[in-house]
Amino acid sequence: MLSEFDLIKQYFLRPGAGRATLGIGDDCALLTPAAGMQSAISSDMLVEGRHFFAGEDACRLGHKSLAVNLSDLAAMGARPVAFTLALALPAAERAWLEGFSRGLFALADAHGCELIGGDTTKGPLNICITVFGEVAPGRALRRSAARPGDDVWVSGTLGDARLALAAYLGELALPAEALAAAGTRLHTPAPRVALGMLLAERGLAHAAIDISDGLVGDLGHILAKSGVGATLDADALPPGPVLARQPQALRRAFTAAGGDDYEICFTAPVAQRGAISAAAAACATPVTRIGRIDAAAGLRWTDAGGTPLVLELSSFDHFTS
Ligand code: ADP
Ligand code: MG
Repeated sequence: MLSEFDLIKQYFLRPGAGRATLGIGDDCALLTPAAGMQSAISSDMLVEGRHFFAGEDACRLGHKSLAVNLSDLAAMGARPVAFTLALALPAAERAWLEGFSRGLFALADAHGCELIGGDTTKGPLNICITVFGEVAPGRALRRSAARPGDDVWVSGTLGDARLALAAYLGELALPAEALAAAGTRLHTPAPRVALGMLLAERGLAHAAIDISDGLVGDLGHILAKSGVGATLDADALPPGPVLARQPQALRRAFTAAGGDDYEICFTAPVAQRGAISAAAAACATPVTRIGRIDAAAGLRWTDAGGTPLVLELSSFDHFTS
C-alpha cells in the first residue's frame, strides 16, 4: 500500500532545482517574483462525472487538468511559472498515478511550469490545480478592456471538442477515425500560452478570454464587463477539421456555442491587424477575425454577405444543465 507521503515522493516530487525558492516538502512553497512583475493566479477544478467520464485515461487527465489552467494564464497574457495540485483519489493506484503524473509533467515541462505543492486526500476523483503566472504591470488582457470598433478575433479552431462529446453522448454518430481526431481536442487541449503572451507583451490586444464554455457565453463576459456589444460573422467562425465536414446548422451551433475549445477570443484595434498576424505566425497559432465590437449592447450575427441572422444558441452553465 502506498502511503500519502510515498505517493507524493514517488509521483509528484522531482529532483533538481526549479524556479521556486522552496518547492514541495514544507508547509508552504516559496516563490520569489521577478522584479517588477505582477502575479496572475487562477484555479480550475476537474470533477469525475462532471468534467470527464469515469474511467478516463489517466495520462490524458493529467494533461487536461493542467491545460485548462494554463489556458486561463494564456487568456490573461501571463507567463506560466508554477502550480499546485490538490488531488482527491478513491485509491492510490500506481498505474493511474504513473499515467496521470506523466501527462501532467509533459505539459508542465513544455511550459516551464513547476509543481510546487498541493494536497492529497482519499475521496471521489477530483483534481484542482492552481496556476501562478507573471505579467508586466498594465499588460494583462482583461475582460473589461474591449472598445467599440475593435476587431474580434479567435485563435485556432472551434467545435471539434463539442463534436466529440456529442458522439460520446450518442447525440450523433461519427466514424471511428473522425471521433479519434475530434476526441484529441476534447481530451488533450493545447493552451494558447505563446499567443497570449505575445499579445500582451507587444500590447496588441485590448480584452481576451479563453473559450471553455463556448464562444457566445465567453465573449458575452467580455461584452458585459466592457459595457459593449458585438456583431459576429457566423460564416467566419473557424470550425475544427472534423466539424468542417458536418452540415451547416451543426457547424454554426458547435463553433458558436460548443465548449471545451480552450482557444482565446480577443479584441484588438483595427490598426493592429498586421502586427497580430505577425504575432500569430511567430507562435505558429492561426488566428481568425470573426467580427467587431459595437457601442450598442447585445450580440448580433450576420452571414458572410452581411445579412443579419438569428442563431438560437446557448452557452454551457453547470447549474442549469
Ligand atoms: P500539510 O499537512 O501541511 O497539508 P501535507 O502533509 O499534505 O502538508 O503535504 C506535504 C508536502 O507535500 C507539502 O509541501 C505539500 O505542498 C506537498 N503535497 C501534498 N500533496 C501534493 C500533491 N498532490 N502534489 C504536489 N505536492 C503535494
Ligand atoms: Mg495537507
